[in-house]
Amino acid sequence: MGVLSEKERIKILSDVIEIQSINDNELEVAQYLQKLFSSYDIKADIVQLDDSDTRANLVAEIGEGKPVLGVSGHMDVVTTGDVSNWNYEPFKLTEDDQGRLHGRGSADMKSGLVALALSLIEIKQSSTLKKGTIRFMATAGEEITSSGAAKLYDEGYMNDVDALLIAEPSQDGIVYTHKGTMDIEVISKGKSAHSSMPELGYNAINPLTDFIHYINAEYSKVDTSSELLGTPTMNSTVIQGGDQVNSIPEYASSLFNMRTIPEFDNKRFIELFEKIKNKVEQESNASLAINPYVNREPVHTTGENSFLKLSKQYGDDYFNRDLELTASTATTDASFLMKGKDDAFPFVMYGPGETGQAHQVDEYVYKDVYLTFIDLYTNLLTDYLNQES
Ligand SMILES: [Zn+2]
Repeated sequence: MGVLSEKERIKILSDVIEIQSINDNELEVAQYLQKLFSSYDIKADIVQLDDSDTRANLVAEIGEGKPVLGVSGHMDVVTTGDVSNWNYEPFKLTEDDQGRLHGRGSADMKSGLVALALSLIEIKQSSTLKKGTIRFMATAGEEITSSGAAKLYDEGYMNDVDALLIAEPSQDGIVYTHKGTMDIEVISKGKSAHSSMPELGYNAINPLTDFIHYINAEYSKVDTSSELLGTPTMNSTVIQGGDQVNSIPEYASSLFNMRTIPEFDNKRFIELFEKIKNKVEQESNASLAINPYVNREPVHTTGENSFLKLSKQYGDDYFNRDLELTASTATTDASFLMKGKDDAFPFVMYGPGETGQAHQVDEYVYKDVYLTFIDLYTNLLTDYLNQES
């Protein structure tokens, strides 16, 4: 046990869970952590997001010079859904008789975020870091578009980073590669007219249904797959258009969700969508627009690096097990933070909480696991930097 008692460690997690940062209000979490850091003489900067005054990232640093080890967690959580389905108050950290701490974000991923923050305090207080820098990056907006991580990447916070750890819930396996995601909106514009004089208008629904039909047919020919990540996926999941039965619809739209792999990445999907758009427009008077409003690249690394090895060694030791090194179908902020890094870059996703607890009713993390991760991170981050030559 370090400078922070078990009681303090739980209290800080509980305070952070109480902040209702449901894809907004991350600024409040950032301010709380900034204040906490400052009481231990750690400087932390708030990096405001452009489009809102309630949304921000937080960047804190200890140590100096190279190498730079980035550690990251997101501050936003997903909605509770119907609260009446919960057996616990979602925004009050509650322990049950099996040693589990319940609350929205307990697994995904405020326990990981806070464990990283507290490990920074422990390392700073113990003066054990002999070389290098640990850069703590708490992000906003991960659950929707990774807007916070995109901002950090754009502002250059990743430029000098030599290795990255993301504390997403993955206590049962260390992830070093993951799929990307994409959400694309396809909009079809027509011209409204009364249905008795359809020649005066142009029906927006027809070209959209052609589009969906063609793209499904074309995509069914794709047989690319990745050994670790499997196949990419594409689904049309929402369709809208028209407002009344006797009017020619002037507008229709459809949403598509994709899971991407390096061998069939986000760019390939854009090309596919553009190709089908051109085909439909050539065949008719259609006017289609393609809007990729979520665009998070897959993250691929070889896993051949000393940081991943050391992470496994610590995980195995602390939890007395043989952790699997694995791939994930879920996406993280690494889609933006790792932009431009090659596949030798040391990337580790490893944090408290079971992957399956993310976004669940009565979400929980085991108290012991949360507390152990604080010590694990404290030693892993220090040893990695001290050993790097
Ligand atoms: Zn998460």
